Amino acid sequence: MEFETIIGLEVHAQMLTETKIFCGCSTEFGQKPNSLSCPVCLGMPGVLPVLNRKVVEHALKTAIATNCSINKYNRFARKNYFYPDLPKGYQISQFELPIAVDGFVDIEVKNKKILKRIGITRIHMEEDAGKLLHQLDGISSESSYVDYNRTGVPLMEIVSEPDMRSPEEAGEYLRILRSVLQYLDVCDGNMEQGSFRCDANVSLRPKGREELGTKVELKNMNSFRHVEKALEYEIQRQQDMLEEGETIVQETRLWDESGGVTFSMRSKEEAHDYRYFPDPDLVPIVIEDSWLQEIKGQLPELPKEKVERFIKQYGIPEYDAGILSSNRQIADYFEQCTGIYHKPKSISNWIMGDILRNLGDTREIDNFPVTPKHLAGMLELIDKGTISGKIAKTVFEEMFTSGKMPEEIIRKKGLVQMSDQNEIEKVIGEIIDRNAEAVEEYRQGKEKIFGFFVGLVMKATQGRANPKIVNEILRRKLAG
Ligand SMILES: [Zn+2]
Repeated sequence: MEFETIIGLEVHAQMLTETKIFCGCSTEFGQKPNSLSCPVCLGMPGVLPVLNRKVVEHALKTAIATNCSINKYNRFARKNYFYPDLPKGYQISQFELPIAVDGFVDIEVKNKKILKRIGITRIHMEEDAGKLLHQLDGISSESSYVDYNRTGVPLMEIVSEPDMRSPEEAGEYLRILRSVLQYLDVCDGNMEQGSFRCDANVSLRPKGREELGTKVELKNMNSFRHVEKALEYEIQRQQDMLEEGETIVQETRLWDESGGVTFSMRSKEEAHDYRYFPDPDLVPIVIEDSWLQEIKGQLPELPKEKVERFIKQYGIPEYDAGILSSNRQIADYFEQCTGIYHKPKSISNWIMGDILRNLGDTREIDNFPVTPKHLAGMLELIDKGTISGKIAKTVFEEMFTSGKMPEEIIRKKGLVQMSDQNEIEKVIGEIIDRNAEAVEEYRQGKEKIFGFFVGLVMKATQGRANPKIVNEILRRKLAG
């Protein structure tokens, strides 16, 4: 039997704010445990929360960018449960009236060159809980420790519709969503540090059937790769079970990266009843039109718009524009380069090739040693004929390791391209004299041997000879 996979994702994005959602404590990451807490985020009796305006603005920006309808009247609710990382005994979240509903993002389906619309069910604001540590300084202990620095850090939960049909689509949706949040400057998108977390709901159903199968919730995936791998594993596990005639149990499963498996954490029977109710300490949020207009005016150019502009303004292919715009810093880098030296396609080629390769997964171009000035300067030297494209690779490596400007590298290393006709003619003359046999073969029609001569010239000049001049002279001389 053929099965169809149904995937929905819940993303928890930590919002970029200076202070927590309901108090003035700092949200800084990596500080001494419990150094960033106060009576409000610790839930002491008698204290009152005060909503951080920035949190609402971040949520509104996200809602607009993901085509959501905004609930101009929305409110916070208490989600009640007990856990040591939650000092109040409830989490302040949103329930029946979230800030935004019914949005979507478009993702590109790989190899099909078509766009697919993924619905967004809702976006709501909430506070994070603390963090439990089961070992200290890497040593396991009989007790656990709790760090309340994270308690009250603002989160946005973005819930998708079950519109994804494969792990690749889920990965693509996450990449697009993260890129939008980074463009908006509302979340840094760091999955490893936990500021962009994702849970997945996955179920299978026989192809053609309307009714959804029993879903399993997956947690504990802290990179895009983990999400895709966990989903692949889980889909296979459910398929094997269904084929054996077994029943899928509704449960929460954790991804174990080292073992490459998912395992059961809790079944539905143990699931919580959170007893949500409107938080009496916080007044409902009323979003006035003037505020919404102000926020709309602050929105930056989003990835999709940037792609379209890049194609039009710089005449680069859609593929290039898509890659350059997938990250705001890289898009800015590209535009800084074109501002210094207007060769968009060459710049795009270098960014997509050598630069992205050296940047690795983090894509943090802001501290990259080869600045737009370096790259633009080097491209200008290629176009002027000072260096060849081949030598440029060496110059790039050197800029990357030393951060020196291209002119200095070329001067110090003697990499200037050899364009002097007489000088090249002399080198070629010597090569022809030394390879009489090959010359004869060429003259008898074995034209493929031409490349062999070019190679010898390049070797003799350490790659510095101007290829155009080498070709001209070689053809003339070999013709006899
Ligand atoms: Zn606090």
